[in-house]
Amino acid sequence: MPLLSVNNIEVIYDDVILVLKGLSLEVEEGQIVSVLGANGAGKTTTLKAISGLLKTEEGEVTDGSIIFDGDKINGLEAEDIVKKGIFQVMEGRRVFEDLTVRENLVAAAHTQKCSRSELDDRIDHVYSYFPRLKEREAGLAGYLSGGEQQMLVIGRGMMAKPKLMMLDEPSLGLSPLLVGEIFEIIVKLNKELGTTILLVEQNARMALNIADHGYIMENGKIVLDDTTEKLKNNEDVKQFYLGMT
Ligand code: ATP
Repeated sequence: MPLLSVNNIEVIYDDVILVLKGLSLEVEEGQIVSVLGANGAGKTTTLKAISGLLKTEEGEVTDGSIIFDGDKINGLEAEDIVKKGIFQVMEGRRVFEDLTVRENLVAAAHTQKCSRSELDDRIDHVYSYFPRLKEREAGLAGYLSGGEQQMLVIGRGMMAKPKLMMLDEPSLGLSPLLVGEIFEIIVKLNKELGTTILLVEQNARMALNIADHGYIMENGKIVLDDTTEKLKNNEDVKQFYLGMT
Protein backbone atom coordinates (compact mmCIF):
# COMPACT_ATOMS: atom_id res chain seq x y z
CA MET A 1 0.00 0.00 0.00
CA PRO A 2 1.38 3.43 -0.88
CA LEU A 3 2.03 5.90 1.94
CA LEU A 4 -0.19 8.45 0.18
CA SER A 5 -2.87 7.83 -2.36
CA VAL A 6 -4.96 10.58 -3.87
CA ASN A 7 -7.94 9.04 -5.61
CA ASN A 8 -9.83 10.90 -8.27
CA ILE A 9 -10.24 14.14 -6.31
CA GLU A 10 -12.19 17.12 -7.42
CA VAL A 11 -11.50 20.53 -5.89
CA ILE A 12 -13.73 23.56 -6.13
CA TYR A 13 -12.90 27.12 -4.98
CA ASP A 14 -15.63 29.49 -3.84
CA ASP A 15 -18.29 26.89 -4.64
CA VAL A 16 -17.91 27.48 -8.39
CA ILE A 17 -14.36 27.27 -9.74
CA LEU A 18 -13.49 23.66 -10.57
CA VAL A 19 -9.69 23.40 -10.40
CA LEU A 20 -8.92 19.70 -9.89
CA LYS A 21 -10.93 17.46 -12.16
CA GLY A 22 -10.43 13.90 -11.03
CA LEU A 23 -6.80 13.90 -10.00
CA SER A 24 -5.07 10.75 -8.80
CA LEU A 25 -1.51 10.15 -7.66
CA GLU A 26 0.40 7.84 -5.36
CA VAL A 27 3.52 8.23 -3.29
CA GLU A 28 5.33 5.13 -2.07
CA GLU A 29 7.06 5.29 1.30
CA GLY A 30 10.71 6.34 0.98
CA GLN A 31 10.34 7.84 -2.49
CA ILE A 32 10.86 11.30 -3.88
CA VAL A 33 7.93 12.07 -6.16
CA SER A 34 7.73 15.18 -8.26
CA VAL A 35 4.73 16.93 -9.78
CA LEU A 36 5.45 19.09 -12.82
CA GLY A 37 3.11 21.33 -14.75
CA ALA A 38 2.57 24.78 -16.21
CA ASN A 39 1.45 27.77 -14.15
CA GLY A 40 -2.13 27.37 -13.06
CA ALA A 41 -2.27 23.61 -13.69
CA GLY A 42 -3.32 23.07 -10.07
CA LYS A 43 -0.11 21.86 -8.43
CA THR A 44 -0.34 24.06 -5.33
CA THR A 45 -4.02 23.24 -5.01
CA THR A 46 -3.13 19.54 -5.00
CA LEU A 47 -0.70 20.00 -2.10
CA LYS A 48 -3.19 22.13 -0.18
CA ALA A 49 -5.90 19.52 -0.68
CA ILE A 50 -3.59 16.94 0.90
CA SER A 51 -2.45 19.14 3.81
CA GLY A 52 -5.93 20.45 4.61
CA LEU A 53 -4.90 24.05 3.89
CA LEU A 54 -7.53 24.51 1.17
CA LYS A 55 -10.09 25.28 3.82
CA THR A 56 -8.36 28.55 4.64
CA GLU A 57 -8.88 29.62 1.02
CA GLU A 58 -12.53 28.73 0.49
CA GLY A 59 -11.51 25.62 -1.38
CA GLU A 60 -13.02 22.19 -0.87
CA VAL A 61 -12.43 18.60 -1.93
CA THR A 62 -15.85 17.76 -3.32
CA ASP A 63 -15.20 14.27 -4.64
CA GLY A 64 -12.69 11.45 -4.33
CA SER A 65 -10.53 10.52 -1.36
CA ILE A 66 -7.08 11.06 0.09
CA ILE A 67 -5.62 8.15 2.03
CA PHE A 68 -2.48 8.57 4.12
CA ASP A 69 -0.88 5.74 6.05
CA GLY A 70 -4.10 3.73 5.78
CA ASP A 71 -6.46 6.51 6.95
CA LYS A 72 -8.74 8.81 5.03
CA ILE A 73 -7.55 12.35 5.69
CA ASN A 74 -9.69 14.55 3.47
CA GLY A 75 -12.06 16.43 5.73
CA LEU A 76 -9.61 16.55 8.66
CA GLU A 77 -8.34 19.85 10.05
CA ALA A 78 -4.89 20.94 8.83
CA GLU A 79 -3.48 20.65 12.36
CA ASP A 80 -4.63 17.02 12.65
CA ILE A 81 -3.07 16.23 9.27
CA VAL A 82 0.27 17.62 10.54
CA LYS A 83 -0.07 15.36 13.58
CA LYS A 84 -0.55 12.37 11.28
CA GLY A 85 2.83 13.15 9.74
CA ILE A 86 2.38 15.41 6.72
CA PHE A 87 4.13 18.77 6.58
CA GLN A 88 3.76 21.24 3.70
CA VAL A 89 6.58 23.67 3.03
CA MET A 90 4.62 26.43 1.34
CA GLU A 91 5.71 28.44 -1.65
CA GLY A 92 7.27 31.80 -0.84
CA ARG A 93 9.46 31.17 2.21
CA ARG A 94 6.95 31.87 4.91
CA VAL A 95 8.75 32.49 8.16
CA PHE A 96 7.77 34.52 11.20
CA GLU A 97 9.84 37.57 10.38
CA ASP A 98 9.61 39.12 13.84
CA LEU A 99 10.77 35.98 15.62
CA THR A 100 14.35 34.80 15.81
CA VAL A 101 15.57 31.86 13.78
CA ARG A 102 15.52 29.66 16.87
CA GLU A 103 12.02 30.81 17.86
CA ASN A 104 10.80 29.96 14.37
CA LEU A 105 12.09 26.42 14.83
CA VAL A 106 10.57 26.06 18.31
CA ALA A 107 7.19 27.27 17.02
CA ALA A 108 7.23 24.61 14.30
CA ALA A 109 7.22 21.84 16.90
CA HIS A 110 4.11 23.17 18.66
CA THR A 111 1.77 20.46 17.39
CA GLN A 112 3.85 17.81 19.11
CA LYS A 113 4.30 17.00 22.75
CA CYS A 114 8.01 17.41 22.85
CA SER A 115 10.23 17.53 25.96
CA ARG A 116 12.77 20.30 26.34
CA SER A 117 15.66 17.97 25.55
CA GLU A 118 13.87 16.46 22.56
CA LEU A 119 13.25 20.00 21.31
CA ASP A 120 16.94 20.90 21.71
CA ASP A 121 17.94 17.69 19.91
CA ARG A 122 15.66 18.47 16.98
CA ILE A 123 17.00 22.02 16.73
CA ASP A 124 20.60 20.73 16.80
CA HIS A 125 19.65 18.28 14.08
CA VAL A 126 18.30 21.10 11.90
CA TYR A 127 21.52 23.05 12.54
CA SER A 128 23.58 20.03 11.46
CA TYR A 129 21.83 20.23 8.09
CA PHE A 130 21.95 24.02 7.95
CA PRO A 131 25.02 25.38 9.82
CA ARG A 132 24.17 28.87 8.53
CA LEU A 133 20.98 28.86 10.57
CA LYS A 134 22.96 28.15 13.72
CA GLU A 135 25.21 31.12 13.03
CA ARG A 136 22.10 33.30 12.82
CA GLU A 137 19.96 31.61 15.47
CA ALA A 138 19.51 34.73 17.61
CA GLY A 139 18.81 37.02 14.64
CA LEU A 140 15.37 37.92 13.37
CA ALA A 141 14.17 35.64 10.57
CA GLY A 142 13.05 38.70 8.57
CA TYR A 143 16.68 39.71 8.11
CA LEU A 144 17.76 36.38 6.57
CA SER A 145 18.58 36.25 2.88
CA GLY A 146 16.12 34.54 0.54
CA GLY A 147 18.13 31.35 0.49
CA GLU A 148 18.50 31.31 4.27
CA GLN A 149 14.76 31.80 4.65
CA GLN A 150 14.17 28.82 2.39
CA MET A 151 16.52 26.82 4.62
CA LEU A 152 14.55 27.96 7.65
CA VAL A 153 11.21 26.85 6.22
CA ILE A 154 12.67 23.43 5.43
CA GLY A 155 14.18 23.38 8.94
CA ARG A 156 10.72 24.16 10.32
CA GLY A 157 9.43 21.18 8.38
CA MET A 158 12.14 18.97 9.89
CA MET A 159 11.09 20.04 13.41
CA ALA A 160 7.73 18.36 12.88
CA LYS A 161 9.53 15.09 11.94
CA PRO A 162 7.04 14.33 9.18
CA LYS A 163 6.71 11.00 7.38
CA LEU A 164 5.83 12.97 4.26
CA MET A 165 7.28 16.39 3.50
CA MET A 166 5.63 18.28 0.66
CA LEU A 167 7.61 21.13 -0.87
CA ASP A 168 6.05 23.75 -3.12
CA GLU A 169 8.58 25.35 -5.48
CA PRO A 170 11.55 25.32 -3.10
CA SER A 171 13.85 26.68 -5.83
CA LEU A 172 11.73 29.73 -6.64
CA GLY A 173 13.80 32.92 -6.82
CA LEU A 174 17.05 31.32 -5.67
CA SER A 175 20.42 31.58 -7.42
CA PRO A 176 21.55 28.41 -9.25
CA LEU A 177 24.11 27.76 -6.51
CA LEU A 178 21.49 27.88 -3.78
CA VAL A 179 19.06 25.81 -5.83
CA GLY A 180 21.73 23.10 -5.95
CA GLU A 181 22.22 23.36 -2.19
CA ILE A 182 18.49 23.12 -1.44
CA PHE A 183 18.09 20.10 -3.72
CA GLU A 184 21.04 18.38 -2.04
CA ILE A 185 19.35 18.88 1.31
CA ILE A 186 16.09 17.42 -0.01
CA VAL A 187 17.94 14.30 -1.16
CA LYS A 188 19.73 14.09 2.20
CA LEU A 189 16.43 14.32 4.09
CA ASN A 190 15.14 11.47 1.98
CA LYS A 191 18.20 9.24 2.11
CA GLU A 192 19.38 9.86 5.68
CA LEU A 193 16.14 10.45 7.54
CA GLY A 194 13.91 8.34 5.31
CA THR A 195 11.48 11.23 4.85
CA THR A 196 9.19 10.64 1.89
CA ILE A 197 9.08 13.70 -0.36
CA LEU A 198 6.39 15.11 -2.63
CA LEU A 199 7.87 17.95 -4.62
CA VAL A 200 6.20 20.55 -6.82
CA GLU A 201 8.70 22.31 -9.08
CA GLN A 202 8.97 24.54 -12.11
CA ASN A 203 12.61 23.53 -12.38
CA ALA A 204 11.81 20.30 -14.20
CA ARG A 205 15.40 19.34 -14.84
CA MET A 206 16.40 19.47 -11.17
CA ALA A 207 13.19 17.80 -10.04
CA LEU A 208 13.53 14.90 -12.51
CA ASN A 209 17.15 14.45 -11.50
CA ILE A 210 16.37 13.81 -7.84
CA ALA A 211 12.93 12.17 -8.01
CA ASP A 212 12.11 8.47 -8.39
CA HIS A 213 8.75 9.06 -10.00
CA GLY A 214 7.15 12.02 -11.75
CA TYR A 215 3.65 13.20 -12.54
CA ILE A 216 2.87 15.69 -15.27
CA MET A 217 -0.17 17.81 -14.61
CA GLU A 218 -2.24 19.83 -17.05
CA ASN A 219 -5.43 21.70 -16.40
CA GLY A 220 -6.38 19.96 -13.17
CA LYS A 221 -5.50 16.41 -14.18
CA ILE A 222 -2.52 14.10 -14.41
CA VAL A 223 -1.74 13.52 -18.08
CA LEU A 224 1.39 11.41 -17.72
CA ASP A 225 3.25 9.61 -14.98
CA ASP A 226 6.26 7.37 -15.00
CA THR A 227 9.65 6.73 -13.48
CA THR A 228 11.83 9.78 -13.88
CA GLU A 229 14.27 7.78 -16.02
CA LYS A 230 11.50 7.18 -18.54
CA LEU A 231 10.10 10.71 -18.30
CA LYS A 232 13.51 12.19 -19.08
CA ASN A 233 13.43 10.31 -22.39
CA ASN A 234 9.84 11.14 -23.25
CA GLU A 235 9.68 13.41 -26.31
CA ASP A 236 6.90 15.66 -24.94
CA VAL A 237 8.65 16.06 -21.60
CA LYS A 238 11.92 16.86 -23.37
CA GLN A 239 10.26 19.46 -25.54
CA PHE A 240 7.86 21.13 -23.13
CA TYR A 241 9.55 20.74 -19.75
CA LEU A 242 13.22 20.33 -20.41
CA GLY A 243 13.46 22.79 -23.30
CA MET A 244 15.08 20.26 -25.63
CA THR A 245 13.99 19.91 -29.22
P1 ATP B 1 1.71 28.00 -10.21
O1 ATP B 1 2.77 27.17 -10.81
O2 ATP B 1 1.47 29.28 -10.97
O3 ATP B 1 1.84 28.20 -8.73
P2 ATP B 1 -0.23 25.88 -9.83
O4 ATP B 1 -0.12 24.76 -10.81
O5 ATP B 1 0.33 25.67 -8.49
O6 ATP B 1 0.33 27.21 -10.48
P3 ATP B 1 -2.68 26.57 -8.49
O7 ATP B 1 -2.05 27.64 -7.67
O8 ATP B 1 -3.07 25.32 -7.81
O9 ATP B 1 -1.78 26.20 -9.75
O10 ATP B 1 -3.95 27.22 -9.20
C1 ATP B 1 -4.80 26.47 -10.06
C2 ATP B 1 -5.99 27.32 -10.47
O11 ATP B 1 -6.79 27.58 -9.32
C3 ATP B 1 -5.63 28.66 -11.05
O12 ATP B 1 -6.48 28.91 -12.13
C4 ATP B 1 -5.90 29.63 -9.93
O13 ATP B 1 -6.29 30.88 -10.41
C5 ATP B 1 -7.02 28.96 -9.17
N1 ATP B 1 -6.96 29.29 -7.72
C6 ATP B 1 -5.93 29.06 -6.91
N2 ATP B 1 -6.20 29.47 -5.64
C7 ATP B 1 -7.45 29.97 -5.68
C8 ATP B 1 -8.32 30.56 -4.70
N3 ATP B 1 -7.94 30.69 -3.43
N4 ATP B 1 -9.55 30.96 -5.09
C9 ATP B 1 -9.92 30.83 -6.38
N5 ATP B 1 -9.17 30.28 -7.36
C10 ATP B 1 -7.95 29.86 -7.02
